[in-house]
Amino acid sequence: MQKIALLGATGSIGESTLDVVLRHPDRFAVAALTAHRQWEKLAELCRTHRPEVAVLSDPRAAILLERALAGQGLPTRVLAGESGLVDAAMLDGVDTVVAAIVGAAGLPSTIAAAAAGKRILLANKEALVIGGAVFMAAVEKGGATLLPIDSEHNAIFQCLPRGATRDPDGTGVRRILLTASGGPFRTRDLAELPGVTAAEACAHPNWVMGRKISVDSATMMNKGLEMIEAHWLFNIPPQRIEIVIHPESVIHSMVEYVDGSVLAELGHPDMRTPITQALSFPDRIESGVRALDLVHLRSLTFEAPDHQRFPCLPLAYAALDAGGSAPALLNGANEIAVAAFLAGRIRYTDIARACAEVLTRIPACPVATLEDALGADREARACASSWLKLPIAA
Ligand code: NDP
Repeated sequence: MQKIALLGATGSIGESTLDVVLRHPDRFAVAALTAHRQWEKLAELCRTHRPEVAVLSDPRAAILLERALAGQGLPTRVLAGESGLVDAAMLDGVDTVVAAIVGAAGLPSTIAAAAAGKRILLANKEALVIGGAVFMAAVEKGGATLLPIDSEHNAIFQCLPRGATRDPDGTGVRRILLTASGGPFRTRDLAELPGVTAAEACAHPNWVMGRKISVDSATMMNKGLEMIEAHWLFNIPPQRIEIVIHPESVIHSMVEYVDGSVLAELGHPDMRTPITQALSFPDRIESGVRALDLVHLRSLTFEAPDHQRFPCLPLAYAALDAGGSAPALLNGANEIAVAAFLAGRIRYTDIARACAEVLTRIPACPVATLEDALGADREARACASSWLKLPIAA
């Protein structure tokens, strides 16, 4: 029986993970569930999964959860705040931590899981973008296992030789081809982009996801963050990661070898496939995802990304090239700008402008500790908020 701590249980990845867990009650048990504020939804999940621990990072919501669960005969202890998230990530007896909190808020608990030597199923790409070397060092020092569930990185993981996923030269890898759908604005008239709404940006053509990653997919910042994530996960330089637009989202990414072979992983765009692959690795079990019908699909298409339409992409390459705190600065600025766009405070095109401005204004510094990474994140948030004339740094 694999005991799971699910960080970000009320989100889109959380929902897909619990769907897979419920299909295999003989294999998986839920030991901890966490969320931010959605106490009613978390209470419902506690009644279904009966975890040992439930955490809400918002302390007021945690009080409401505790009241809602009182007297129901559940084995669940309610914890609050960031320390509660860290406790859930390090819980004794837990084998697997699914890191599915959105944004920088997921970094401390994911690093704690690494330090505790857990098997980490990583969805929270922002943690790796901000933490980079610090995060990978914690994984190594803690003896943790990192399995990607971001669909692209899971595809790459499946296409690399087992046990040698961080040795591109030794295994004959020439390039990683990271596929991207191009999002909802791939063919939109450029002149219309400043006026697009949050609802339009969140209407992803192929994937159903949380609002933040949906906007990131529209701007293709998501692909930039994924390029940085791939760099850290697979120990490959950015010059050997090519981004290819593939609007059907059937090929989830590819690995090109020096002999000319290109290996790809294909499937329906449904997060239950990568989640199941990582949960059951190295076995294969049923995920609930329907079979791919290639004859019905007929054709798969590809194109190069247009940097004028997607200015966040070159910003991500520039940030990784600058090194140190630059990726954390980019991510912090993006989180502020996306939240402001979703709240209707800024225009869509201001997102990339704010990110560029923060990277120009704040010089990159070395990042040696978690505190260095979080400090850069705070600095970027304050700078982006001030440049965008937002009331407070969120
Ligand atoms: P959602 O917005 O759907 O869910 C986010 C989860 O994180 C919720 O449980 C939310 O709790 C919790 N959360 C939000 N803010 C905080 C905080 N400050 N502290 C603690 N917990 C918090 O996001 P997704 O599931 O879409 O994405 C999660 C992560 O997975 C992201 O990093 C994303 O990039 C990555 N990912 C997502 C994919 C997808 O298909 N959705 C695909 C690949 C990667 P509450 O509900 O209470 O707010």
